[in-house]
Amino acid sequence: MSTTGPAVPFLDLGPEFEALAPAWFQALREIGAGGRFILGPNVEALEAEAAAYVGAAHAVGVANGTDALVLALRALGIGPGDEVITTPFTFFATAEAVSLVGATPVFADIDPASFNLDPASVAERIGPRTAAILVVHIFGHPADMGAFTELARRHGLALVEDCAQAFGAEWRGRRVGSFGDAAAVSFYPTKVLGCYGDGGMVFTQRAEVAERVRHLRNHGATAPFMHDTLGCNSRLDEVQAALLRLKLARIEDLIAGRRRVAAAYDEGLAGCDLVTPGQPAEGRHVFNLYTVRSPRRDALRSGLAAAGIPTSQCYPLGLHRQAVYRDLGYREGDLPVTDQACRETLSLPIYPDMDEARIARVCEAVRAAA
Ligand SMILES: *Cc1c(COP(=O)(O)O)cnc(C)c1O
Repeated sequence: MSTTGPAVPFLDLGPEFEALAPAWFQALREIGAGGRFILGPNVEALEAEAAAYVGAAHAVGVANGTDALVLALRALGIGPGDEVITTPFTFFATAEAVSLVGATPVFADIDPASFNLDPASVAERIGPRTAAILVVHIFGHPADMGAFTELARRHGLALVEDCAQAFGAEWRGRRVGSFGDAAAVSFYPTKVLGCYGDGGMVFTQRAEVAERVRHLRNHGATAPFMHDTLGCNSRLDEVQAALLRLKLARIEDLIAGRRRVAAAYDEGLAGCDLVTPGQPAEGRHVFNLYTVRSPRRDALRSGLAAAGIPTSQCYPLGLHRQAVYRDLGYREGDLPVTDQACRETLSLPIYPDMDEARIARVCEAVRAAA
C-alpha cells in the first residue's frame, strides 16, 4: 500500500484560530475593560446578527446546544406525559433533552440516503400523546422541512429543529432554524459555527417562546432576586460571543470551505466501493461531517487508521438501543434503516481550511483500503 505520509488530523482548527486571534484578542481587552462578562453587548449583538442570518425573528444565547434543546422544549410547554417523535441516528443530546424535560422520546426510522428522519416513519408513530416532532439536520444535511411542516400542521404538533450540526444549511433557499416553532444550535468547537468553549442558541419566530427561554436561562428571574419559575443557569458569555461574531461574519467562507472539501472527496472517491453522502435535491448541505457508507466499514476504518487517517463512527449504536433507553423496549430490527446505517457509516476528516495535500492523502488511503 502506498499510503504512507504525514498523518491527517480529524479536525484542525489551527489556521482558523491564527486568522481570528488578533481581532478576538482585541475584543477580549475591551470585554475586560468593560467588566461585563456574561449576557453583555456582544451576546446581544450576536443574537441580532445570528437571527438575521438564520431568518428567525428571535435568537436567545444559552450555555450549550443541549440546553438550547431543553429550553426550547420547556418553552413550548413539552413535559411529562408528552411524546416527542425524533431520530435515533443522532448525537445522544437530542433524545436526552426530551427525557430531561420529562417527556418520552419515540424513535422513527431514517431515510437511507440523507440519514435524516423519514417523514413516512414519523407519520406512522403519531398518536394521542404526541406533542412534537424533533427533527435533526444530521451531519449538516437539511431535512425535508416541507414534509415535516405539513405533518406538524395537520396534526397540531409543535415542530422543533436540532440544527446543532447544520448552521447555515438551507432547504429551498431558506436557512434551517427558521422553520420550526423553535430551533436549537450548538456552538461546540467542532460544529460548523463553533466557538472556543461551550455555547448554544435558541431560534424562534414566536416572541412568547423567545421570552420564555430568556426567562428560563436565567433562573426564572422576573427581576433581580425575584423568581416565579424554576429555570436554570444557562447563559452565554461575552468571550465566546465576541469570537462567534467574528466567525459569523465569515460563515459563508467557512461553509464554502467545507463544501469544497466535500466536492473534492466526491470526485476523489468516485469508483470506490462505498457510497458518498447524498446531497439534498432542494437545499444546501454544510458538511459538518462527511459520512460515507460501506458494507466493509470496519476493515475500511482499520485500514485508514493504519495509514494515519483518523475517522469517526457517527453513530455506532442507535439511540433506541442505548442502555439508558432499555425500558422503552426497542429491539434490533425495529428500525432497520438506522441499524444498517450504524453498521456501515464512517466519517472522514473535514474542516474549512483542509488543504489539497491532505484531501489527496485521504482519498488515496480510502482507495487503498475500500
Ligand atoms: C453537538 C450536538 C448537540 C449538543 O450540543 P452541545 O453544545 O454539545 O450541548 C445536540 N444535537 C446534535 C445533533 C449535536 O450534534
